[in-house]
Amino acid sequence: MSDLTDLSQGDLFSPPDPIVTCTTLDELHGLIRNCTKCDELAEYRTQAVPGVGPANARVVFIGEAPGRWEDEKGEPFVGDAGAYLTELLEKIGLSRSEVFISNILKCRPPDNRNPKTSEMDSCAPYIERQLELIKPDLVVLLGRVALERFFPKEKITEAAATPRRRLVGAREVTFLPMLHPAFGIRRQDLKPEIEQQFWKIREVLDDL
Ligand code: URA
Repeated sequence: MSDLTDLSQGDLFSPPDPIVTCTTLDELHGLIRNCTKCDELAEYRTQAVPGVGPANARVVFIGEAPGRWEDEKGEPFVGDAGAYLTELLEKIGLSRSEVFISNILKCRPPDNRNPKTSEMDSCAPYIERQLELIKPDLVVLLGRVALERFFPKEKITEAAATPRRRLVGAREVTFLPMLHPAFGIRRQDLKPEIEQQFWKIREVLDDL
């Protein structure tokens, strides 16, 4: 008997949702690269930036949106903030190649403006499906935008470095909010605090 409550499989009136039914990251990233849900972003971008890293990574990092260099290279966190993220990872004994890195928005907003709520709503199924397919132990939320998307009532300054749990599909996953590494580039005085927060990642991973 068919299960009519599972809308991902489609019903008599709508076809199956390809984001929900895709079974590999490659397939999902193909959908992201061809996405035209947001007219302005699709027109302005050089390319969409789905994310990078192993399909079975233990840790996923989620930032805000691609900037100029990410849009040009097709990879998240390759500018100054990215170099600092790589340095922070190495300090806590993680290599960039063993973690998965992505963003809430997969396309660069014009002139790096803040993402619009409508754009984040349109893009949300992609990050949800990435997490369902990767099945990480830990998701690190880099900055306010990523935090508020998953925990809408929380403030980054209060939530930073405190782990919390949330369902992703049917799986409960640990999330850890952090100050965004770009803060450390703009405010060198915040670097010690950001570095101290990063050690929490090591601690959480060792306890999981
Ligand atoms: N680069 C990204 O890919 N995301 C950010 O949030 C910042 C820089």
